[in-house]
Amino acid sequence: MEEIKPTFRVEGTSRGLPEVKRLHLPGIILKSDCPRCGRECSVDLADEYLSYGEAEATFYCGGCERAGVESDWTICFQGEVRLLPLDE
Ligand SMILES: [Zn+2]
Repeated sequence: MEEIKPTFRVEGTSRGLPEVKRLHLPGIILKSDCPRCGRECSVDLADEYLSYGEAEATFYCGGCERAGVESDWTICFQGEVRLLPLDE
């Protein structure tokens, strides 16, 4: 009897990030240039996390903090989760 390989499909459209309280993504680093001094700042999602229901990251600039000026800003973005079958 010929073996039938099972199929795999994902249907629908994601409505935001998965419902997890703290979404860590080790290996992913978000980067943004400080809107005041231009310094490149980063959010490492191995250490930091995205909060439940939000697709945004808050960046902090140590240089601006030391200078006593506003040192944080938030970037909103769309998260995406991909579900891919593995070859066996
Ligand atoms: Zn700055």
